[in-house]
Amino acid sequence: MESDKHHSRLMEKVRLAMYSRPFVCVAARSCRRIELVTVALMLFTVGGTSCSRPVAQREYPVQRDFPNVLLISIDTTRRDHCSTYGYQRPTTPVLDELGEQGAVFDLAYAPIATTAPSHATMLTGCYPISHRLIKNGLTLDDDYTTLPEMLRPHGFQSAAVVSAFVLDSKFGLAQGFDHYDDEIPPTETTWKRDELQGLTVPQGSVDRRADFTSSRAIQWLRSQRNPERPFFMLVHYFAPHFPYVPPEEFAQRFVPAGAVRQSMREQVGLYDAEIAYTDTEIGRLLKELETLQIDQNTIVVLTADHGEGLKQHGYMFHAIHIYEEAVRVPLIIRYPPQIPAGRRFAEPVEFTDLVPTLLDLLEIDVPAGLFQGTNLAGALRGEAELEPGRAIFLHRRHFSGLYRGNQFVKGELFGIRKGDWKYIEGKEEKLRQLFNLQDDPLERKNLLNQYPENAQRLVQLLEQWRRTNYNAKPALNYMTDEDIRKLRSLGYVQ
Ligand SMILES: [Zn+2]
Repeated sequence: MESDKHHSRLMEKVRLAMYSRPFVCVAARSCRRIELVTVALMLFTVGGTSCSRPVAQREYPVQRDFPNVLLISIDTTRRDHCSTYGYQRPTTPVLDELGEQGAVFDLAYAPIATTAPSHATMLTGCYPISHRLIKNGLTLDDDYTTLPEMLRPHGFQSAAVVSAFVLDSKFGLAQGFDHYDDEIPPTETTWKRDELQGLTVPQGSVDRRADFTSSRAIQWLRSQRNPERPFFMLVHYFAPHFPYVPPEEFAQRFVPAGAVRQSMREQVGLYDAEIAYTDTEIGRLLKELETLQIDQNTIVVLTADHGEGLKQHGYMFHAIHIYEEAVRVPLIIRYPPQIPAGRRFAEPVEFTDLVPTLLDLLEIDVPAGLFQGTNLAGALRGEAELEPGRAIFLHRRHFSGLYRGNQFVKGELFGIRKGDWKYIEGKEEKLRQLFNLQDDPLERKNLLNQYPENAQRLVQLLEQWRRTNYNAKPALNYMTDEDIRKLRSLGYVQ
């Protein structure tokens, strides 16, 4: 009986893995492994059992004593407007302390400057050109595997508390979550619009306030989660996103009394106040981990989905550029049992790294080459070095040709950073730019004509990256350790 139960559980995951089709093989070894698993799965499914996607609500036994994972994403937060990264205003005292207790990444990149695509990369470990949720309003294909789906077979429960209409469950990001709180009561919104980027906004409420989000997250932690099971939780705050309307007590800290709040200087002050307000609310959430005595046993990852233009390149907001202010974000990881306090990393990292890193910190098998990103766990533990010259890849989705502010945007943009050099190209905008970020961190001086060979090297890497990852389908490991052992004992996996 027990063995029947186990067999049907195995079958279920086998089917899951079959839905995740193998993609480009980064490493031959993992490729063989995927093929072998697929063969094994096909063998297991002989017998006419119909293939259907398993219901997300299924619970698996907890295999061992896992820590929890709390992933906090703040919308629209530039790294250089956080005091953690040297900003002159005290915007982020909570993040500063979190960073002192954990590891801070100085050179972390979002893959794209748009909310839903960036979150899809955080949750799947795939670049936007792979998962294809490249703009708000598209839906993450069910074929892709989210982190809560990967953790479920290990006995995890999962919850998300999100604060913007563009992360509504109907856009596919809720897959794998047991609890997905995307409710935006009209009384809690700061941004009323009936339409956003061509999408109808239910009840005319685009976002919800940070205090409401923290309260909902705390409510789940206190009374809705099962304390016998580990959890994965995503908490998304929207406040720093336009409109910049922080609670008055925060506004007064950053904008002089009586100032005209429409001026650029005051708008930036209000933006900073929104970051400070969100920081305070994150403090309330982190305090709850202490109250529940799970702070030492919870991996906390804090980042932002993208930055904000603030007219550094002429545009106030985000989504149309991939300059540094649009894509460089804070990234802090705290987990005292494995990560020494106070580490700072200068090497470049990106969102595709989060999934393999978290799986490794949870001590779940992470086969080399299976993921698009880099597993940072060894470096976090102080056991390995990160590669300073690693390339980082950036993307902006296709626009058919329109004005955003005074900027005409058309076609796609692609970018690559490697070492001190950054190259951006937009074929339809006839844009080719090469910057030396060491000498010119604000990306003002296009060096394309002076250093054509440098640009050409980056073009080749960019093309190779596009060829490898464009619209690729990820094959991810759904197996529990126990299942892998079983398949291994049967000779199906190495
Ligand atoms: Zn966003």
